[in-house]
Amino acid sequence: MTDRHAAPTTVEVAERTYAFVQPDGTWFINNAGFVVGDDHVVLVDTCATERRTRALLDAVAAVTDAPVRIVVNTHHHGDHTHGNYLCTDATIVGHRRCREEVERMGIMTLDSIWGAVEWGDLQLRSPDLTFDERVDLVVGDLTVEVRAFGDAAHTTNDVVAWVPERGVLYTGDLVFHGGTPFVVMGSISGSLASLDWLRSFQPAVIVPGHGPVCGVDALDAIEAYFRFVQDLAAEGLAAGVPPLELAQRADLGPFAGLTDPERLVANLHRAYAEAEGTPPGDPIDYLTAFSDMLALNGGGPLRCLA
Ligand SMILES: [Zn+2]
Repeated sequence: MTDRHAAPTTVEVAERTYAFVQPDGTWFINNAGFVVGDDHVVLVDTCATERRTRALLDAVAAVTDAPVRIVVNTHHHGDHTHGNYLCTDATIVGHRRCREEVERMGIMTLDSIWGAVEWGDLQLRSPDLTFDERVDLVVGDLTVEVRAFGDAAHTTNDVVAWVPERGVLYTGDLVFHGGTPFVVMGSISGSLASLDWLRSFQPAVIVPGHGPVCGVDALDAIEAYFRFVQDLAAEGLAAGVPPLELAQRADLGPFAGLTDPERLVANLHRAYAEAEGTPPGDPIDYLTAFSDMLALNGGGPLRCLA
């Protein structure tokens, strides 16, 4: 079992362009990143807990004395936004719907789902500056293009941070590298489309939302997983089998090694809804999706090392 406090690593993926990678990339253990200029730093995402976000800010301070003036939130989930409040000198930038979701959901710390986590003294802070399609951030001689996917994929408000001069693409949770994708709040079809959109940047380096830094080839396995979920859902719907039963008897095949496999049943709930005509990203019965994940996991809280 991975050490609960396995140290994060700072990876210089290109000049002045960094990934902050937290092993092992499972529930709430996200990646962040930062781009360093002479005068200021653009941070991409914060972390789930106070301790982890302080470690992220320490990692930035180990590289540069420049202050974090801008934080980009790739989407509203708490593992990418809970630490916003610790960036006291920064403007928080996110999609308009990201701000709406952070405000609506509040701080999500559900012991019944993830067990007892040392969250710290979290305070809600949503994006101050919102946009719908794109906003460009200048940091030194680099530009960070913050671009919205537009349709629902991982969530309704996914954005990427693209550094064209470096070929570096921070994808947020449009990419789980080595972990099971999680699209219950988004869409399977939208997630498939988002992979083509990510490929269109022709990135040299992808900093995923969870898991090790990778290249564009890592997207193929993710695409295969979404098609597996779609095909499984079509079979389940045709046979009238509920998502939990379908997930319990599913043969994961090449996807058996992905972490957090219980997400399959939540993804199936989204796939069923989508096949039955629910628009991408529209709310579905999240209570059942989450309780089915607990059931698929054997009943207890999910494995969360945050
Ligand atoms: Zn997420």
